[in-house]
Amino acid sequence: MTVPNVKLNNGTSIPQLGFGVWQVPDDGARDAVAEALRVGYRSIDTAKVYENEAGTGRAIAESGLARDEVFLTTKLWNSDQGFDETLRAVEGSLERLGTDYVDLYLIHWPVPEYDRFIDTFKAFQRIRDEGRAKAIGVSNFRVEDLRRVIDETGETPAVNQIELHPGLPQDELRAFHAEHGIATEAWSPLGQGESLKAPAVTEIATAHGVTPAQAILRWHLQLGNVVIPKSVTPARIAENFDVFGFSLSDDEVARISAIEGERIGPNPAEFNLR
Ligand code: NAD
Repeated sequence: MTVPNVKLNNGTSIPQLGFGVWQVPDDGARDAVAEALRVGYRSIDTAKVYENEAGTGRAIAESGLARDEVFLTTKLWNSDQGFDETLRAVEGSLERLGTDYVDLYLIHWPVPEYDRFIDTFKAFQRIRDEGRAKAIGVSNFRVEDLRRVIDETGETPAVNQIELHPGLPQDELRAFHAEHGIATEAWSPLGQGESLKAPAVTEIATAHGVTPAQAILRWHLQLGNVVIPKSVTPARIAENFDVFGFSLSDDEVARISAIEGERIGPNPAEFNLR
């Protein structure tokens, strides 16, 4: 099965379908990532705060795949924001991951009240220039935060990884990303399981002989989103990867986009957890 790539503004590409490991303990991440790589995923999304960079890195090292066959993302935690702090934090992440570079390094949250994401992004530019991150981006950034990064650093983040699922389709951010060449990466793409119950999803899934999770992942792919569903169950890991044998009509995409819902995670304007 060939996963399409989405081209990033630094010239590299990210697989449109990857695998996320939030809320998976380190040992479990080792097993889940090993299974995902076995099934065919070639993009893995972790973060310092997930406390499973070591297990993730071990699974990649033990997979038999060459390092450059796997697109690896990690994220800088809020308490590490700031220029010098960021340069220190990347060392820790690379050491735990057991690699000398990541394919994508993201600022996990903007934390507007700290007002340190500009200095943090400038440190990211240095990290990228030194070859320790191939691409640099952000997560949970609002339009106003993205505008500041672009205006004050002269560089557009390659990716903005945001909460995005049928109940929160993020039209405003997606439009801004499209205008500026920022790849949209969807976190909690299945609404942490909630979106699977929506009648429009179950009806469309039945019509195609697929599962609700597959219908939602197909919706993301057809919208152009990069998507990183999480599961630790081998059957679901495989199911979530098997989404290239059917497609939704424009009307079905629109019906899923019209599902009413709300934000599951924190509001980026306020989130400041250290
Ligand atoms: P998700 O939408 O991927 O949902 C995961 C949950 O859905 C699973 O725990 C399971 O209960 C269920 N599920 C998965 N596959 C299923 C299937 N085929 N059938 C039925 N149920 C299924 O939610 P998530 O884990 O929150 O998000 C995915 C990834 O996004 C995370 O692992 C992480 O890598 C990333 N993420 C990033 C941020 C951020 O702030 N940048 C925040 C949250 C998550």
